Formats: sequence, structure tokens, C-alpha cells
Amino acid sequence: SPILWWVRRDLRLTDNPALSAACGSGRPVIPVFIHDEHVAALGAAPKWRLGLGLERFAGTLGARGSRLMLRRGPALATLRALIAETGAGAVIWTRAYDPDSVARDKAVKAALGEDGVEARSVAGHVLFEPWTVETGQGAFYKVYTPFWKAVRGRDVSDPAPAPGMIPRPDHWPASDEIDHWRMGAAMRRGAAVVARHVRVGEEAAQDRLAAFAATKIAAYKTERDFPAAESTSRLSENLTWGEISPRTCWHAGLAAMDEGKAGAEHFLKELVWREFAWHLMWHSPQIATANWREGWDAFPWSTDETAPEVIAWKRGRTGIPFVDAAMREMYVTGTMHNRSRMIAASYLTKHLMTHWKIGLDWFADHLIDWDPAANAMGWQWVAGSGPDAAPYFRIFNPVTQAEKFDAQGTYRDTWIAEGRRSPTATALSYFDAVPKSWALAPSDRYPAPVVTAEAGRQRALAAFEAREG
Ligand code: FAD
Repeated sequence: SPILWWVRRDLRLTDNPALSAACGSGRPVIPVFIHDEHVAALGAAPKWRLGLGLERFAGTLGARGSRLMLRRGPALATLRALIAETGAGAVIWTRAYDPDSVARDKAVKAALGEDGVEARSVAGHVLFEPWTVETGQGAFYKVYTPFWKAVRGRDVSDPAPAPGMIPRPDHWPASDEIDHWRMGAAMRRGAAVVARHVRVGEEAAQDRLAAFAATKIAAYKTERDFPAAESTSRLSENLTWGEISPRTCWHAGLAAMDEGKAGAEHFLKELVWREFAWHLMWHSPQIATANWREGWDAFPWSTDETAPEVIAWKRGRTGIPFVDAAMREMYVTGTMHNRSRMIAASYLTKHLMTHWKIGLDWFADHLIDWDPAANAMGWQWVAGSGPDAAPYFRIFNPVTQAEKFDAQGTYRDTWIAEGRRSPTATALSYFDAVPKSWALAPSDRYPAPVVTAEAGRQRALAAFEAREG
């Protein structure tokens, strides 16, 4: 009888333990992606990007004589229906670590077990599963550096090759059409612009990694902080949908270290930040919803999403060029440089004293590389409420940050058109990427700061001290 391979955030053939195990089971393999309530709840940009990934992956499987079945409905009911239709005797999937997926997967596993169907989950989305990394006291790590030290020397097995053949069933069950799912429905007019920047699929991800390892990894440590430098891997888009495995990236980093490339170890460190985020989320699932540190509930965050300065932040019109450039980069490319994420998040949570949840949700709606763990960790880290967070009084100054990390103003000019005689094409594309209802035009005046770097800092510090007092 066949085995169902429940495809989730693992849209790849290479180094996919779930697929390898399915192929190794001796059963015909039926790959299925389920559009359940978790998929329905995705933000606009992630959902659109997932749709592109699924379309591409269906093609990849098709070229191997296999198929990707698309079904819509609650996971358990959908799997049961497929089992009834196909006579499948087993289901396998790659484990997820966010609380909603964990709850769903546990329930599915238990129920299928009761049905007498073999249900198995395997690792594949992370290098080190959260429960395999413990402090000397048997607790989980709440600080990055000791976490890094605990894992950096571990043996990580070589990535597995793509299976030579994916055994097919005698009959394929019915499948939905991806177009009917309308995965891009909520993207409004941004999709055509962002589409020019995405790199979809396994092959594109492998190419990205190879190009990064060949030309950029050596200087990565020194260059990675400059948002205009295009010096990072940009693999987050692919890692989050599983179009490449973290193990493949890890081994590319190790190989570059062996070649004596100076920045390579730093690349491994960043991959471990991704691991650390999943570690935190698994051990502390409320990281995406509640202040991680005690005491922060009393902080006077604003939760008014309609406040003019919050709207200005969302639209990339705060009058602070680094912040605005960052937000515009996100609308046009679907991603944002790490330094820019920190500056934009810091301005919202500190200068505008707005709750990090508002920023977290906004990013979750607009990032094609949205990762529930990295996004939550990033926001709480910047806000000061998270584990291992920067102390609150260390407030990024978006003006001096620009002087340091965008000294020539290249990043600013890449993304801001207003007030320029000949704006760059990228800066102009922002006006096509955002909703028409924002009614913005390149000929608009660039706004004065809604809150200046210095005034915002003073206000935030005063509020922080009042809370402490
Ligand atoms: P590279 O510099 O090439 O790094 C390689 C890989 O390491 C990345 O692809 C990513 O998987 C991982 N990585 C690097 N930095 C981090 C980090 N600080 N935390 C976790 N993983 C990291 N990353 C996401 O993938 N999705 C998100 O939704 C996300 N939201 C963020 C929100 C905020 C407020 C902040 C401060 C950071 C967020 N990050 C997020 C982390 C980081 O900004 C991105 O991973 C990085 O910019 C991706 O670019 P890259 O692929 O070129 O990274």
C-alpha cells in the first residue's frame, strides 16, 4: 500500500529525510500538500510566495514522474480521506516546531495511530532539534553565545542526495489546481513588483548558495552589516519554505572554512541564530505572543495601529531615511536586510513606543521569508522584552546608524525617490508595490520626521525609567 508524504515547509528533493524515508519504505509515494487552516492564516506575502513554491515544486516532482497532490481542508480529515481513497498504510512528514503545528501534528499522529495507520515525523527543518540542546543543568538555552558554543562542534551528517526514483502509485487520487487556491489574492498590486525579486525553488536556492560561497562568504563577516552591499546569502526566502536544507548550507559553510575563507564561520553563526530562534520557540511557545521577560507588560506600549506615526512607519514615510528605506525594501523585494530590520523595528518600538506585536504582525504579512521563530525572536530582541535582548536603554539611533552603515547614502537612494531629480528605478518601483489606496507618488514631498531620533530616544528612556521606578 502507498505511503503519503505530507509536504509542508520542505519543498525539496535534495536532503529531505522525509522523502528519503518514504522512498526507502518500498511503498509507492504519494506527495500531498494540504491547504489547512494554518495555510489559510498565513500573511499575504508568505501565502503568495508559498503558492509560487508549490507550483514550482509540483513541476520538479512532475519531471521525476511523480506528482504533488493538492488538497484543501483540516489536516486530519484530509489525510483520512486520502487514506480511504488510496489505501495508504503510512504517512510521513518533516517535523515543525511552532506551537500551532506541534499541536496539530500531535493530534494527527495520535488519531492516525488509532486508525491503525503508521504515522511518522522526522527531522529536517533544523540542524539541531530543540530538545537535543541542553545546558549543564538540563535546561534550555536562553542566551545565544552558549547555545552557539554548545552546537558549533557537533557532527552534522552530510546532506543526502535526491532520491534517484520516486516510486509512483498505480492510481493518482484527485488533486486541486493551484490556481484555484488563489494564494496571491491578498497581495493586491505588489505581486508583480515582488515577482521580479523572488528566487523560487530548489535549483534557484542551490545556485544562490553556490554563488554566495564562491564570491561573498569570504568577506561576509565584515560586509554583512551594510544593507546596500548585497553581501549576504539571501537564503532566508528559500530556507523558510524548505527549498534548501540547513544541512546543505551548513556544509557549504564548513567547506568554505576549510578553504580558509575568513567569513565562513560567521555564516555558520547566523545559521545557528536560526536554530536558536526555533529552540526558543519550541521551549517557550509564547515568544510570538507575549513579552518574554517579566515586567514588560507594565510598559506603556501604544497599541493604536491607526496612530498617524504608526501609519507613517508602515508606509515608509516616517521622514527617517534609514527606516523608510528599510520598509520600502520590504514592499519591493519581499525581504529586508538584517540591519534594516533592526533599525525599522527599533524605531517602531522605541521612538514610536509602539508594541512589538504590531510590528511582528506587519512583517508577518509582508515578508516572503517570514519565519515565525526568527521574526518573533527578532522583534522581542529589538524591543528589549525578549531573551538575550539588547538592554532597553541601548536604543539604535537611526541617523548615526545610517552614517555608519550607509555612509554614501546608497541604500537611501536605492529606496527613496521623493526629492530626487532622477530617482533610481528601485526607488520608483516602491510606488507600484504598495496599495493604490495609499495614494503616494514620487513627486510627493519627503516628510519631516514624525519623531526625531533624539526626541524619540528621550521619550522612550523616560518611559522606561518610569517603569523601573
Ligand atoms: P544571511 O546573512 O545570509 O544569513 C544566512 C541565514 O541565517 C539566513 O538566511 C537565516 O536563515 C539565518 N539568519 C541570519 N540572521 C538571522 C537572525 N538574526 N535570526 C534568525 N536567523 C538568522 N529571518 C527570517 O528568516 N524570517 C523572518 O521573518 C525574520 N524576521 C526578522 C525580524 C526582525 C525584527 C529581525 C531583527 C530579524 C528577523 N529575521 C528574520 C532575521 C534576519 O534578519 C534574516 O534572517 C536575514 O536578514 C535574512 O537574510 P539572508 O538570508 O541574506 O541572511
